[in-house]
Amino acid sequence: MSSFVHLQDRSYYEDRYDDGTVAKCRSGERIVNDTFKIMEKKLPKKELTERLPGWYLQYSLYYFWFVETAAAERAENREATITKWMDEDKKKDDRLASAHISGGTYCRSCGEDMSVISKDYMRRDNHKDDDILIMFECNACNKRLALWEDGTQWEGAKHECEKCGGNTVSKHTKKFDVITWTETCEKCKHVKTDTLDLSDSKSEPEPVDKYLELDRKRFVFDKDMMFKYEQKLNHLVRRAKLHATEQDKVEHVDVYDGIKQVKKLKIAQLKELLEPVFTKDGYSDFKLGDPQIGREVSLDFSCLDTKDDREEYDSKKTLHKSIEKVLEDTNWRLMSAGLSYRLGFLTGSLRAYESEEEIRKLVEQRMKKGYIPKATPKEPAETDTKPKEEFYNRDMRESVLVYFDKLMLGSVPAEITLKSGIVKPTSIPVLSGEMNPLLRVFIPMRNNDESVPKFIRKYDFKFGEDKKMAKVRKDSRGRKIRLV
Ligand SMILES: [Zn+2]
Ligand SMILES: [Zn+2]
Repeated sequence: MSSFVHLQDRSYYEDRYDDGTVAKCRSGERIVNDTFKIMEKKLPKKELTERLPGWYLQYSLYYFWFVETAAAERAENREATITKWMDEDKKKDDRLASAHISGGTYCRSCGEDMSVISKDYMRRDNHKDDDILIMFECNACNKRLALWEDGTQWEGAKHECEKCGGNTVSKHTKKFDVITWTETCEKCKHVKTDTLDLSDSKSEPEPVDKYLELDRKRFVFDKDMMFKYEQKLNHLVRRAKLHATEQDKVEHVDVYDGIKQVKKLKIAQLKELLEPVFTKDGYSDFKLGDPQIGREVSLDFSCLDTKDDREEYDSKKTLHKSIEKVLEDTNWRLMSAGLSYRLGFLTGSLRAYESEEEIRKLVEQRMKKGYIPKATPKEPAETDTKPKEEFYNRDMRESVLVYFDKLMLGSVPAEITLKSGIVKPTSIPVLSGEMNPLLRVFIPMRNNDESVPKFIRKYDFKFGEDKKMAKVRKDSRGRKIRLV
C-alpha cells in the first residue's frame, strides 16, 4: 500500500522558508538599487560630491524599509511559520493514514473482499479542498475500484462507454506520481485514458543560483543581525524625533488623545460590555471561548441569531457593526477574519492589543475609518516658557550624536603670511569623523556588486579629511594661510 507522505525533515521547511526570505529581500534590494541608479544618472555631478552623505543616508533609509525590515520580519515569523507548515503536513498525513471507508468495499464484479492499494489527496469537482481517493483491488479477480473517503465512487471512472454506452473495463497503473486509468469498452473496444499527476509538476530544473548561499547568509537574520536591526530602528526613531517639527506634534495629537482614551478591558469586563449589546440586537446564547494565549491574546465567541427573517448577510453585518461600535474605545477588536454563519449560529474571534505600540496602531487604523477620539484640553506647550537657545543647543548636540561618530578635533600644520610679509608656522583646527554606523546599511554588500550604485559602493563615511581641505585660504583678518 502506498502512502504519499507529506511531512518532511525540518530542514526541508527551513530551506523553503529561507528561499522565500531571499526572494523577498532580493526584490526589495532590486527596487532600491534601481531607484538610486536612475537618480545617480540624473543628478548633477556636483550634487553627489557635495551632498554625498545626504544621498547615502537616503539610500540607507530606503534600504532599511525595503530590505532590512523585510528580513527582520521574516526572521520574526520563521519559527512559527515552519511549525505551522509541519503541523499542516502532519495533519494531512494523519488524515491520510486514518482514511477508510466503512462498508461497501466488496468487489462489484465478484463480491469478494477488496484491499486498499493506495490513498491519495485529489482535487474533487465542486469541493473546496482536496479530498482523499482510496483505491481498492479485489483479492479474487483483481478488478479495481476507486472511492472517495465518503464512499462515493470516483467520478472519473464511470463504467459506461462514451461512444456506444456499453460496459467498460477499467485498469489503473501508477508510475512515479502519475496515475493512469484506461477504460476499455467491452462492446466497441473504444479506449479512453485519463491521467492524474500527483507530483508538484516540477518539470524543468531551475537554473543554478550562484549567489543563493551568499544571499541566505546575508538575508536570513540570526540573533546578531536582529540586534543590529533593532539598533538601527531605534536610531532612526531617534533621528525622526530630532526632526519632528512642532507641526508634526500637533498633527499627531489626536492619536495620542485616542490612545489615552483606550480602555484596557479584562476578559470579564469585556463579557459584561458585550452581553447586553448582543441581546439588544437580537442574538442570544452569547458565549466566550477560552482565551488563546500566544504572541497575542485572542478569544472565540459564539451566539445565535433569534430573528427568524434575518438572512446571513444582514445577520453578520449587524453583529459586526455593533461589536466594532461597542469596542471602539477599548483595546479589543473583532479579528479581520470576521464572522462566520451557519444556520443562525455565528462565531468569530476577538483580539486584545496590549503594548503601547500596538494600541497606537489600533487607534490609527480606527481613525482612518473615521473614528474621532474626544479631544482633551491641551497642556500649554512647554516651548513657550523656555528660551529658544536652549532648544537650539539641545538639538545641535542631539544632531551631532545622531549623525556622527569618532568626532575628533585635531589640527594640521600650516604657514601664515603676516601683513609684514613674515611667514610663521601655525596650525588649522580640523574637525573630523565618520557617519554614525547606526545610520549605515548593515547587511554586507556582495563584493563588486554592480547592481549597487557606484556612489554607494565608493562611499567611505569619512568627513573632515585633509584631502578635502583647500590648500590655501584666508583667515578672518585677510591673512593668507597655506597648508604645509
Ligand atoms: Zn472481484
Ligand atoms: Zn463502446
